[in-house]
Amino acid sequence: MNCELEKTREVVLNHESFLITTHINPDGDGVGSELALARFLQDMGKRVAVVNSTPTPRKYSFLDSNGMIQLFEEPKGLPHAEVVFILDISRWERLGNMAQFIRNHPGIRICIDHHPVQGNFADINLICEDAGASGELVLRLINSMAGSLTPEIAEPLYASILTDTGAFRFPNTSAQTHAAASQLLSAGIRSELIYDQIYERCSPARVKLLGHALASLEYLHEGRLAWMAITQSMLHENGVEVEEIEGFVDIARGIRSVEASLLFIELPGKKVKISLRSRGNVDVNGFASRFGGGGHRHAAGILIEGSLTQIIDRLLQQSLVLFPQQ
Ligand code: 5GP
Ligand code: MN
Repeated sequence: MNCELEKTREVVLNHESFLITTHINPDGDGVGSELALARFLQDMGKRVAVVNSTPTPRKYSFLDSNGMIQLFEEPKGLPHAEVVFILDISRWERLGNMAQFIRNHPGIRICIDHHPVQGNFADINLICEDAGASGELVLRLINSMAGSLTPEIAEPLYASILTDTGAFRFPNTSAQTHAAASQLLSAGIRSELIYDQIYERCSPARVKLLGHALASLEYLHEGRLAWMAITQSMLHENGVEVEEIEGFVDIARGIRSVEASLLFIELPGKKVKISLRSRGNVDVNGFASRFGGGGHRHAAGILIEGSLTQIIDRLLQQSLVLFPQQ
C-alpha cells in the first residue's frame, strides 16, 4: 500500500494540464471520483479532459450534467496532458483499449485507488486500502489542499461513496466514510435525490429479468454458495443492457445460509463476466485472482473467455476453496 497523498498534492499544485480516466464499464465510484476531481482541478484554473474507454452507464449519467466525459476513440488517441490520473483501478487490463495509450503517455501517471494491490502501479500511487471508495481519497486530496467543496464536486463524491459502500452497508464503511459523507452533506447536496437517481429508477425490463435470474438460483456446499446465470438470450428477450444487472448478485448474498454468491453473465464473442460477492471470512478477491480477475475481499469480478457452460463448470468445480476449513 502506497498512500502518496503529499506527492500527489505537489504534482497537482505544480502542473496545469490533466487527463483523467477510470476502468472499463465504470461504476459509481469510477464516474463520481473522476468528475469530482475534474471539477476541483477546473476550479483551480487547470485544464482538464476526462476520457473513458467505455460509456457511462445510464444511471450515472446524471452526474455528468455538463457532458465532460469523452469516449476514447483509438485513431484519435489521447489528448496531451502533463499529468494523467487513473482512478479506481490499479491493473492495466482494466483500462480496456486505452491501456497501451496510457502506458505510453508522456505525462506523470498518478493512480488513486482503494483496491488491494502489490507493488507500485503508476509513477505516483495514492492507493489506500482503508478508504471505502476512491471518491473518499479524492476528498482527502481536496482537503489536503484546503480546497473549496462546491455542491458540483460534493455530488459525484457522494455518489462514489454511496455506491462503493452499498449505501453504507458494506464493511468498508468506516467512521472516516461517514465523516466524509457528513462533510459532503454540509456542502449542500441532496442525498435523497442522489439515492433516487441511482437506486430507484430501474426499467420494468430489469425487474422482469431479475425474476428470471432469481428463479434460476442454485445452491452448492450446503447452501453456502448461491449462483445464477444470465444468458445472451435472456438479455435480448427482456431488452436489458448488461449494465442494468448491477445489484442482482448482492440479493443472492443476502440469503441466510449464503456466504458467497456468483453471477455468470454471458457476453457476446464467447466471453463471460462473473460478479462475486461474499461475507465474513470468504475472500472472493483471492478466488477471482485464480481466473485473472480481482477486486475486494467481499466484491470482485472476472472477465474470462469461454462458453457460459464451460466457465460455470470450471468455477463451480473449484468453488470449495472459497470456504476455508474451520
Ligand atoms: P462488479 O461485480 O460490481 O462488476 O465488480 C465488483 C468489484 O470487482 C469492482 O468494484 C471491481 O473492484 C472488481 N472487478 C469487477 N470486474 C473485474 C475484472 O474484470 N477484473 C478485476 N481485476 N476486477 C474486477
Ligand atoms: Mn471503487
